[in-house]
Parts: sequence; structure tokens; C-alpha cells
Amino acid sequence: MVSKEKALELLIEGNQRFASGNPAYPNQGAERRLEGLNGQSPFAVIIGCADSRIPPEILMDQGIGDLFVIRVAGNIIDDAILGSVEYAVAHLGSPLVMVLGHNLCGAVQAAIDGGEAPGHIGALVEAIQPAVDAIKADEADLLRQSNTSKC
Ligand SMILES: [Zn+2]
Repeated sequence: MVSKEKALELLIEGNQRFASGNPAYPNQGAERRLEGLNGQSPFAVIIGCADSRIPPEILMDQGIGDLFVIRVAGNIIDDAILGSVEYAVAHLGSPLVMVLGHNLCGAVQAAIDGGEAPGHIGALVEAIQPAVDAIKADEADLLRQSNTSKC
């Protein structure tokens, strides 16, 4: 298994290949699929949003067995997700855990907008709401401090 520093380097290099339009599509052939029959040893865990525009394997230009990806709308963390992270680190030996956020997240926007969310979407919004409230409180403090310093 690689070090956490090497794992981060591999992710950054892969993202640079993707961003530059020159992905290598590594570890995606028949040989790699056969290697998977003997187990897995992903070099990084990525916790990401389920948003269809941000698939970690593609954004980081990685292949089969390289990443242990956990995705849920809004990047929320609950016991099942923590259990998945712990499994990857403790049992698979993944040296690096990355939380991959993104712009224009619909789940975060729903929490910002407030109001009633239908069905189980409310559970996502409820999990994100404390972070939105904290930012709104910080903004209010900044505005108050700004107004005070001008007086
Ligand atoms: Zn999102």
C-alpha cells in the first residue's frame, strides 16, 4: 500500500490529467478486473456528493479498485457512512480519506432555501442545516463587526 502522501499525489496527478483533457483511464482493463477477484486495496477513500456531475473515479482519472467511493446527496455523514470509512481504513488499509465537495450542490441549496422537503429528502436537509446555520451566524457577525468598525 502507498503512503498517504503518495495517495494524495496520485489523486492530484489524476485530477490534473482529467482537467487538462488528457485522462489516462488507468486500471480499467480485463487484467484489472481479474485482479479484483483476489480482493481490493483502494489507495484512497473519497466521500462525495451523489451529484451526477462529479464522479470521483472520472474526476481523479482512476480505475477499478483504486478508490473506495462513498456518495450521498449533500455529502452528509451518518453512522453508515462512518462505518464504510472505518471499513476501508481498518480492513482494506486505505491510507487517505478525502471529502470531496462541489459547487452548486442541490442538497445544500435546499438547506439554504429552507422550508418543507418532501419524503426522505428532509433527512438530508436536516443533516446539512447546522452547517448552513453556522455560516449564516458567521455572516451576521461579520456584518455586525463591519458596521461597528465604520461607526
Ligand atoms: Zn451535491
